[in-house]
Amino acid sequence: MDTKILSGLEASKALFDGLLSRIDNLKSNGITPGLAAVLVGENPASEIYVRNKTKKFESLGLKTDLFRLDSDVKESELLNLINDLNHNNDFHGILVQLPLPKHIDSEKVLNAITPTKDVDGFHPENAGLLSIGKPRFVPCTPKGIMYILNHFNIDLNGKHVVVIGRSNIVGRPISILSSLKSLGNATVTLCHSGTKDLKYFSKQADILVAALGSPEFVDASYIKKGACLVDVGINRIEKNGKSRIVGDVNQESVTGVASSLTPVPKGVGPMTIAMLVENTVLSAELLLN
Ligand code: NAD
Repeated sequence: MDTKILSGLEASKALFDGLLSRIDNLKSNGITPGLAAVLVGENPASEIYVRNKTKKFESLGLKTDLFRLDSDVKESELLNLINDLNHNNDFHGILVQLPLPKHIDSEKVLNAITPTKDVDGFHPENAGLLSIGKPRFVPCTPKGIMYILNHFNIDLNGKHVVVIGRSNIVGRPISILSSLKSLGNATVTLCHSGTKDLKYFSKQADILVAALGSPEFVDASYIKKGACLVDVGINRIEKNGKSRIVGDVNQESVTGVASSLTPVPKGVGPMTIAMLVENTVLSAELLLN
């Protein structure tokens, strides 16, 4: 069986093409969508993630400012900055890059972002709206997964979606999106570290979403022939003395068994950034209503 590669570069380009007219419309109404990115400390991976995000905003002619704070910043100072950004009309979205240093309560900080600027979709108000089937800001990675599946005409309706991983940023929201009647309308099984006999479930999947954070964990023995695989993982490994990024799926093992597969890199990753832009444009559009 040929395994079709579901390119996140192709799907994200289609999304950006569609966003241009929405951005033009906002600008003609005097609004340039703006993102405030907050980076605490000097975590090299966080630096790269934030740089990739802000570069994309700049390339689309959107406003973006990076607010850097030292790793020993007081929690109260960070909360004050969030409060200022909540009231700053130049910014329609606020992104706090995780992880934060250990002395800072991440939940408290994320909850301080006003829900209408919460373009990461992590605030309990936005999570609640999603869970009652009225999504406003949906976390970028699961939203990107829905977009890429739709772009490649992979219909979830009536299918069995099995998700491995129950985090608030990937696993749980993708399970909700897939099950919503208005979106996926799929039957969903959510597996996690407490699941007994994972293969029993994963082998039933028409669409398997691997979001467990374990390098190349899912091989051909976990899937049924013809399944569509969404590989969310980003794991850095050392192999033959070289460092490289791999997903949660052993892509070599499943090629020829799966019908389609998101690659790593250039699969779900670009969609996550694309959806951050989409959510920020959406936030700016709320001002037009
Ligand atoms: P997490 O560590 O918060 O959650 C992992 C989940 O997997 C947990 O719910 C845990 O119960 C489950 N799990 C772990 N081991 C398991 C096992 N052996 N069997 C079944 N379930 C198991 O991780 P996360 O933040 O959801 O991220 C998951 C992966 O996705 C990571 O590799 C992360 O780097 C990657 N990620 C990628 C993007 C992207 O843009 N592509 C965005 C976010 C996260």
